[in-house]
Amino acid sequence: MYRKKIYGRSKESKCPFCDSTASAMNNQGILVCQRHIKDELKNLKCMCGEPLDIMQGKWGPYFRCINCGNISYKKGLEANSLL
Ligand SMILES: [Zn+2]
Ligand SMILES: [Zn+2]
Repeated sequence: MYRKKIYGRSKESKCPFCDSTASAMNNQGILVCQRHIKDELKNLKCMCGEPLDIMQGKWGPYFRCINCGNISYKKGLEANSLL
């Protein structure tokens, strides 16, 4: 039997609000599920405790902290236990 293993195929994004598959985008340009289109990520904190700003880059959203500079979207969510 030939079964191809697919590595690094993490195209499927998760909604940070509920863990469902994200198939829509909210006002902040963040991938969310259909149910959370109207929700926004608020009061996100950096690992250092400073608030994070959501930025829009060429490759999607990322965060910015006044202490740490740019933080990847994934890291920012991780710091807030959203991933
Ligand atoms: Zn959701
Ligand atoms: Zn920071």
